[in-house]
Amino acid sequence: MVIGTHDASSTSAAVLTGTPVVPGVAFGPALLARAEVSPAAVEAFGDGSYADAEAALAAYDEAVAAVADEFVRKAEKASGAAAEVLTASAGLARDKGLRGAVRKHLRSGDGVLAAVRAGVEQFVGVFTGMGGLMAERVTDLRDIERRVTAYLVGEPAPGVPTPEEPSVLVAEDLAPSDTAGLDPALVLALVTERGGPTSHTAIIARQLGIPCVVGVGGAMELAGGTVLLVDGTAGTVETGADPAEAERKVVSDQETRAALSEWTGPGRTADGTAVKVLANVADGESAAQAADGPVEGVGLFRTELCFLDRQDEPSAEEQAEIYARVLQPFQGRYVVVRTLDAGSDKPVAFATMQGEENPALGVRGLRLSFDNPGLLDRQLDGIAAAAASTGTETWVMAPMVATVAEASEFAEKVRSRGLKAGVMVEVPSAALLAHRMLEAVDFLSIGTNDLTQYAMAADRMATDLAHLTDPWQPAVLQLIAITAHAGQQAGKPVGVCGEAAADPLLACALVGMGITSLSMAAAAVRPVGARLASVSMAVCEEVAEAALSAADPMAARAAVLEVLDRG
Ligand code: PEP
Ligand code: MG
Repeated sequence: MVIGTHDASSTSAAVLTGTPVVPGVAFGPALLARAEVSPAAVEAFGDGSYADAEAALAAYDEAVAAVADEFVRKAEKASGAAAEVLTASAGLARDKGLRGAVRKHLRSGDGVLAAVRAGVEQFVGVFTGMGGLMAERVTDLRDIERRVTAYLVGEPAPGVPTPEEPSVLVAEDLAPSDTAGLDPALVLALVTERGGPTSHTAIIARQLGIPCVVGVGGAMELAGGTVLLVDGTAGTVETGADPAEAERKVVSDQETRAALSEWTGPGRTADGTAVKVLANVADGESAAQAADGPVEGVGLFRTELCFLDRQDEPSAEEQAEIYARVLQPFQGRYVVVRTLDAGSDKPVAFATMQGEENPALGVRGLRLSFDNPGLLDRQLDGIAAAAASTGTETWVMAPMVATVAEASEFAEKVRSRGLKAGVMVEVPSAALLAHRMLEAVDFLSIGTNDLTQYAMAADRMATDLAHLTDPWQPAVLQLIAITAHAGQQAGKPVGVCGEAAADPLLACALVGMGITSLSMAAAAVRPVGARLASVSMAVCEEVAEAALSAADPMAARAAVLEVLDRG
């Protein structure tokens, strides 16, 4: 959306806005990534004139092999999340089910390009129906389709052109294969027209520390080479900015970021109020990495992520070993273990309900234990055994809690094993009844990703709804404030472990509301810790007030920045 023009004499001076996901300021020419294969080449190729369906299938197999090999080659050069998503894309390209769908269409007389399209569409339908993380794989599928098509028609693979000078990469959305090879020295910032705060673009940008704004309406209408000033904190993309002023902003931002990287903890406001800065982890490996950082513990161990590839439920003993790998590196600190949040965007074969009409509102998280209490009992036994074997202080919380009765029942089971019990606040009902929840449990942890999704009735993965799935929405902030206030009244800890905790500006507002811990991806720990260390509690409270009384997310960010700049 264009929110303003500076100069009536120049149509090029304008500000586009989107959702800011990685802070930082960049100034440079736009490099547009066009994702489509040339229509002329597609038309010239026609149906490919293969002798029969088998010959066309052989051509498909060759194209898929080449595309998958290219993913693997890129994966070998990448690391971390980028390597993982590329390897997954290679597997998806070679998927037998996809091949079967393509073969069926070839046999029914479709040309090879039409068959590829129809096969991919069939899978897009399935993934979209599953929602959540699976729906996000639709971008990967479309990427595979384009690459296979390009190979078949003899065109170079579509995607991101290699920058010849440091540039701002502008795209509709970026697939993992586009983002994996990005050179942070040449890519100053990422701007995408679609995509939300949890899109691949956002994840990779966070990992690389490249300023990033997503969901920027009109971005693809920018002409290549247009000089852009991107502000990954404010969520703005400005054309026609004064070069001297823009350069000044870039330098000042670089100085700020350099100072941030030196933060060593523990979490404190400038005047000494303690705020625990914690890590979100998925398994032993990520826990070991996080333990090297300046964190006081783990605020969210997503146990379901250990089991995404498991068909059968691991025994309590095996679970104990898996959990101990996470607890071990945090001896002397503490770990908040979340019980299985299977279902919806995280299908776990042995737990997830099949065939639900609306899985995000279905039997997920704690609800899976209603009909299968043994599942929860065995997991709690595994957690308790891991806590005993490592000696690490262990808290346990349940996801997707909606009623006080659920919280009480869960707390009883956890406490009977000698552990501290809490629940996540992800459903608005839990926020509204936070004071009563706190009578039943020892702590609360706000999952802002789901709390936002459910408060705004907007799928957290829907790229077209990124403006709604924004934790800066006043209604979401209000629910957080209610929960934090309940914690203060009860004298019990209330943390935030959703993506909101990783946003340095929002973190100040959360602390001002009374939040006592912030748990986030390891990459966000230093920027958040350093920002908090630079503000007093009084400023945090003022910031919270400013955010809570703003009309919308844009206004809230602007109001908070204004207070912080003043303070
Ligand atoms: C959340 O919903 O904010 C949360 C932390 O849980 P997850 O992202 O795993 O659903
Ligand atoms: Mg959640």
